[in-house]
Amino acid sequence: MSIKDNLLQIKFSLPSSVTLVAVSKTKPVSDLMEAYNAGQRIFGENKIQEMSEKWEEMPKDIQWHMIGHVQTNKVKYMSEYVSLIHGVDSLDLLQKINKQAAKHNRVIDCLLQIYIAEEETKFGLDENELNEILHFVQNGKNGMQNIKVIGLMGMATYTENHEQIKKEFLNLKSIFDKHKQLTTLSMGMSGDYKIAIEYGSTMVRIGSSIFGGR
Ligand SMILES: *Cc1c(COP(=O)(O)O)cnc(C)c1O
Repeated sequence: MSIKDNLLQIKFSLPSSVTLVAVSKTKPVSDLMEAYNAGQRIFGENKIQEMSEKWEEMPKDIQWHMIGHVQTNKVKYMSEYVSLIHGVDSLDLLQKINKQAAKHNRVIDCLLQIYIAEEETKFGLDENELNEILHFVQNGKNGMQNIKVIGLMGMATYTENHEQIKKEFLNLKSIFDKHKQLTTLSMGMSGDYKIAIEYGSTMVRIGSSIFGGR
C-alpha cells in the first residue's frame, strides 16, 4: 500500500478525539510530501537537525513535533518553529525551552514524559518528579511564561504481551487524570496505538505503519 493509503486508512479509523502525529524520522522529504498531499499536517521527528532541515524545505503550515529525547544545548535550533515537544523529562530542560521560546516571543507547548515501561532504556519522570515540575511552572510562575505544559507522554514496554502494555497505559492514564489542567495524552505507536486509544490516548505517534519500516 502507498503512504497515502496507509495514512488515510489509519486516519479514518481513529476517533475524532485522537490526533495523529505522522512520525517521519529517517524518511525523505518526498515521503513526507506524499503524506502532506494526502492532508497530513502534523509530523513527528526525533532529531532536531533532521527536523530543522525538513522544516526549512517544506510548506510552512506544517506543525512539527519533537518526539525524541532533547539535549538542552540543542533547544535553540528548533525554538523558532517547533509546535509541541513531547519528551520533556527535567525542569532544567523546561527552563531552557522557556528561555529560548522567550527569545522568539513564543509560548511553546510541552508534554512531560512519564516513565511507565519496564525497560531501563526509556527516559521519563516518576510521579513525584512530575508533581514537583507541575507545581513549579503552574500559571507561569517562576518566570515560566514561555512554555505551557499541556499534557503527558509515555512509551510502553516493547513487548507482545498486551496485558503488560495495558497495565502501563492504564497507569499513565490514571496519573494524567489527576491533573485536570492537562489536555493531551500522547501514547501509542504503530504496534500499540489501538490499545492506547482504548486506555484514553488523545494523541498517537505513528511511523512505520504509515511510512514503512526504517
Ligand atoms: C519512532 C517513534 C515512534 C513511532 O514508532 P513506530 O513504531 O514506527 O510507529 C513513536 N514515538 C516515539 C517516541 C518514537 O521515537
